[in-house]
Amino acid sequence: MATKVTRDRLFFAFEPKLDPAVSVRQGEAVLLETHDCFEGQIQKPQDLVDKLDWNHVNPATGPVYIEGAKPGDVLRVDLLEVKVGQQASMVTIPGEGALGDVITRMETAILKVEGDHILFKDRIRIPKKPMIGVIGVAPESGSVPNGTPGPHGGNLDCTLMCEGNSAYFTVGVEGALFGAGDFHAAMGDGEIVVCGAEISGELHFKAQVVDLKGLPTPFVETPEVVATIYSAPTIDEASNGVIHHMAQFLTDFAKIPLNDAGMLMSLVGQLKFCQVVDPLKTVRFEFPKWVLAEYGFKMR
Ligand code: CA
Ligand code: ZN
Repeated sequence: MATKVTRDRLFFAFEPKLDPAVSVRQGEAVLLETHDCFEGQIQKPQDLVDKLDWNHVNPATGPVYIEGAKPGDVLRVDLLEVKVGQQASMVTIPGEGALGDVITRMETAILKVEGDHILFKDRIRIPKKPMIGVIGVAPESGSVPNGTPGPHGGNLDCTLMCEGNSAYFTVGVEGALFGAGDFHAAMGDGEIVVCGAEISGELHFKAQVVDLKGLPTPFVETPEVVATIYSAPTIDEASNGVIHHMAQFLTDFAKIPLNDAGMLMSLVGQLKFCQVVDPLKTVRFEFPKWVLAEYGFKMR
């Protein structure tokens, strides 16, 4: 039986002073129930964003205190299962998002989940691919609203934060104070109108400190690739940061000579957008694990 944290244990900013919802041992199975990013305020097409209470947007569930996690440690969070509810919502907000300059009409769309698909406007069947928008740990100081991404994680809106993958964060405070929320039943890279298929959900995870101190985080591992994730005010700065983080990982951890690392990043690396619409833009750099294996490096 996993330790369960219900979705009423929510918080709206990652910060050191958060009160833990629960304290767990490393490797203990935990189940987090999550609200959608509107905390359930949008249920039907008539629920437009001008009625929203913005103090209840982007809740995360937790935080979960991981026993023994100390500042500077690297925490690996295995995303064992990511489930979503039965109905997702999307909105357009004039002035917001990558099309905010041309979108003039507020609209809410409700997307029903039907098995492995979600239904857009009753006719377009879109494959369901649940992912976690907000995921992270408390920073060592300050307070970061859940709508903002950063070195601690937060609103990364990275489609690799999904079932079967592992997320890595650098612990900022004792116990790490891990939390997650803002699940999407599907989302495209970029998150153009500032939302995916916003939906409630459940995350089953196990977290443990791993021997990877200095890993450039946030970092994510899938069965096929590893990826660095970086957020900055502009895409240019974010791209520059994420590329240097990957080069640092390849040289410091996989012990690949810098010139080889650069050439291989140029050959088989993939620079991709996570989101271009939040207060900071987030990008990722993916690198195949099979190449790491050629250099004798494994993540675990
Ligand atoms: Ca988000
Ligand atoms: Zn979202």
